[in-house]
Amino acid sequence: MRNTKQKDLILNIVQNSYEHLDAYEIYEEAKKSINNISLGTVYRVLKTLEDTNKIKKLKVNEMYRYDGFTKKHHHFICNKCNKIIDIDDTFDLKFNLKNLEVDDYEIIFTGLCEECRKDKK
Ligand SMILES: [Zn+2]
Ligand SMILES: [Zn+2]
Repeated sequence: MRNTKQKDLILNIVQNSYEHLDAYEIYEEAKKSINNISLGTVYRVLKTLEDTNKIKKLKVNEMYRYDGFTKKHHHFICNKCNKIIDIDDTFDLKFNLKNLEVDDYEIIFTGLCEECRKDKK
């Protein structure tokens, strides 16, 4: 029973955050509800959720982050504050992949986010 509670809690944290938290941030958040939860448990639950496609793991700047939005989408990463912004997969991609079989693709945009652009001026 306790396992289910931990799993639901962690899934909730990841799904309700648009900030693509890392495992430690998820752990800090989980502790607010289950104060004796361990970082190891958080990692184990994250792995299970990832294996069952409930969440996605992203590698950004050598760090793993978790995404509760599993529909195909891309990311914009700010070079200055490292913020990750979700980008919809609705734009038209003109591929020239005649003899290739594409399994998957991932596009990462990098640059400056709105706030960091304002700071620059
Ligand atoms: Zn920024
Ligand atoms: Zn995302």
